[in-house]
Amino acid sequence: MTNEEFADNHFIRTIIEEDLKNGKYQSIITRFPPEPNGYLHIGHAKSICLNFGLAHIYGGRCNLRFDDTNPEKESDEYVRSIKEDVAWLGFQWHEEHFASDYFDMLYQFAEDLINAGKAYVDELTADEMRDYRGTLTLAGKESPYRNREVAENLDLFRRMKSGEFPDGSKTLRLKIDMASGNLNLRDPVIYRIRRVSHHRTGDKWCIYPMYDYTHALSDAIEHITHSICTLEFEAHRPLYDWVVENVAAPSRPHQYEFSRLELLYSITSKRKLNQLVTQKFVSGWDDPRMPTISGMRRRGYTPAGLRLFAKRVGVSKSENVVDMELLEGAIREDLQATAPRLMAVLKPLRVEITNFQDGEIQGKTVPFHPENAEFGERELKLSPTIYIEQDDFEEIPPKGFKRLTVGGEVRLRHSYIIKCNEVVKDENGNIIKLLCTVDFDTLGKNPEDRKVKGVIHWLPETAPQATVRLYDRLFTVERPDAVRGEDGEYRDFIEFLNPNSIEEITALIEPIAQTLPPESHWQFERLGYFVTDRYDHSANNPTFNRTVTLRDTWQKK
Ligand code: ATP
Ligand code: MG
Repeated sequence: MTNEEFADNHFIRTIIEEDLKNGKYQSIITRFPPEPNGYLHIGHAKSICLNFGLAHIYGGRCNLRFDDTNPEKESDEYVRSIKEDVAWLGFQWHEEHFASDYFDMLYQFAEDLINAGKAYVDELTADEMRDYRGTLTLAGKESPYRNREVAENLDLFRRMKSGEFPDGSKTLRLKIDMASGNLNLRDPVIYRIRRVSHHRTGDKWCIYPMYDYTHALSDAIEHITHSICTLEFEAHRPLYDWVVENVAAPSRPHQYEFSRLELLYSITSKRKLNQLVTQKFVSGWDDPRMPTISGMRRRGYTPAGLRLFAKRVGVSKSENVVDMELLEGAIREDLQATAPRLMAVLKPLRVEITNFQDGEIQGKTVPFHPENAEFGERELKLSPTIYIEQDDFEEIPPKGFKRLTVGGEVRLRHSYIIKCNEVVKDENGNIIKLLCTVDFDTLGKNPEDRKVKGVIHWLPETAPQATVRLYDRLFTVERPDAVRGEDGEYRDFIEFLNPNSIEEITALIEPIAQTLPPESHWQFERLGYFVTDRYDHSANNPTFNRTVTLRDTWQKK
């Protein structure tokens, strides 16, 4: 990867360059900190490219850290998938960490805070705590437990840890300021009692540290220099700073925020993606229609294409809602150069060549990629019966139709010109086949007396079959999670699922399809980019997913 592959000068790069120049840091350490409570999505891809990209550009390091503080929702399966996705995107993390590895240290820091009179054990219920918290315009009220003695706090906290109290009955809170204009500073809870097995620490703990506290200290423990997160954490930054300044943290990281990526006709919320999976609206997290990294991988998106997309969406603090076309454009651009080409016929129409003569017909050796000989070549040869695309024939052609019509001519890609003389139909009027003749003098050259404009793809009758899945947008509206009903309430995003987001067909294809490994990227001439399915593809049943069409067909609808 070159530095040019990452987002151009943006405010975080400016800050880092300044910090390096004035000697604040000798080198930088960033981290990508997912919570292992779901699979990564396109928004995470942006964050990954940003954090790993900065480490790359400035010769620093980037850690992968799992912020695993919510045991009920986390699992090893998610950890595995996240590691696979980051590596697949092309990044190598410096160190791998789990916030849960720091639970002992975090506990010790909490005792230190108690000893310094900066934390107390509270017994307000969740409802009471909400009432006491106040609002944006109204100061909060201090808890009656706020001024306990250090010794009592320490004793209670230790007994919380040793399991003497029921879930939810006590919390440890920071003693900051109940009148702060920033609600996050109104004595935030940093520990809660929760008897849930943790995917790594099992039943060792019945108290768990809260996210803000854990996140800040995990950054400090890892000597992260630039802790980059999305804008919704901006109001948490004062708490982040408070935490790292009030314990004997090993380093003093700084938090910087950028805007979240949102993709139209899609969803970037793990919770909602999880709902699609658990309610079986999709086949799994890696369904090719999902905006997850594993779904996009299965769809045929490429790491380089996704990185190009991340570069193009840029990094800033202003709204970052982008059209699917920007993503698909980046994928096309990568595949254009890297995917070899073949012919496939998705909806076959039989064509019989009535003047076929063996001796007159020659094959042609055609490279799999017009600019890259490394992909090899194969011979294409006309047979007495061939198949063309149903869409490439019209009995009553619309104006400007350049493909095959009755009495008209068309060139077969990499082959001869044929003319359609007759349409054969069944008793219901459905077209069964076309009767055509071939002009033997047109292989590799144009006839002198007339112009034949159209070129269509085709396959000989020996072409093997393949299963092909065609995908459309998963949702029918731009912002499925932001549509309000007449009552002003948000409508359920499930209502906006596109019922026609997948079509599976049996197509014809060139024989090389039977020799391909899974995840081979190909252009089907005139039809789009396709990939052999990561799981379902086999020599006996070649199976392709359409990654993206060749042009943007969506906008025209
Ligand atoms: P979700 O809301 O989907 O659960 P999250 O922010 O809770 O997402 P995390 O696992 O905490 O998910 O995210 C890991 C990192 O990825 C965080 O630094 C987060 O800021 C970043 N991130 C998450 N979603 C996006 C997004 N849509 N655009 C850019 N960065 C994102
Ligand atoms: Mg989060």
